[in-house]
Amino acid sequence: MSLLAARRVKVAYGGIHAVRGVDLEIAEGELVCLIGANGAGKSSFLKGVMGLVHAHGEIQLGAQRISGLPTHAIARLGIALVPEGRGVFGRLSVRENLEMGAFTRKDKTGIRDDLDKVFGLFPRLAERSRQAAGTLSGGEQQMLAIGRALMSRPRLLLLDEPSMGLAPLMVHKIYATIADIAAQGVTILLVEQNANLALKTSQKAYVMESGVIRLHGPSAELAQDPMVRAAYLGE
Ligand code: ATP
Repeated sequence: MSLLAARRVKVAYGGIHAVRGVDLEIAEGELVCLIGANGAGKSSFLKGVMGLVHAHGEIQLGAQRISGLPTHAIARLGIALVPEGRGVFGRLSVRENLEMGAFTRKDKTGIRDDLDKVFGLFPRLAERSRQAAGTLSGGEQQMLAIGRALMSRPRLLLLDEPSMGLAPLMVHKIYATIADIAAQGVTILLVEQNANLALKTSQKAYVMESGVIRLHGPSAELAQDPMVRAAYLGE
């Protein structure tokens, strides 16, 4: 069974139809990417899954229907979103930000173990655990946002353009860590404009254009597709 199944999902802002009937499935343990140009509707789809905007259609997490539930309930069921722009709490320390990520949990020892795991994934955060998050570099804030999401022990991690605004070396680091997180068994839906990198990192891909899924399939196959190469890989 799929971990996430979205059927005929639509998101509209007044008269603007950002998502126009999207079907998408993610199996447990998969790393799936959703690529597309600016304004294709990728972020709106993620926000719809997370309940941050109203989504029409059906969205299921495992056997549970989540469409229509409030965001906090969806978070408790095991979905964590790392939004575009990261959204770290600037005045709180790195450690406090990470602890906020565990707000749905009560298992103190588990939380401590996961904090160690996050510091293991991102040694840079361990070095800066007392520093105010607002003073971190963009790449460090991205690490913190991902770390904070992991602190909820999500069944499904939604990443919105983790490479945005970062220097190539930092993008490389973030992507290496995303691959590590996936290898540890976390299911991931990765939204990216950087199609090249997203297709290399994921197993399955969806291409979104003007609110609809234009193509989907194994990432290695899509990377060879002439339309994808022309439109998204700059060839
Ligand atoms: P980007 O990569 O630029 O973030 P995207 O594929 O994530 O693009 P969305 O951010 O989902 O695209 O935007 C899809 C469409 O919905 C765009 O036309 C955008 O202007 C519109 N839109 C997004 N958020 C809102 C909003 N809060 N109110 C009105 N229109 C919105």
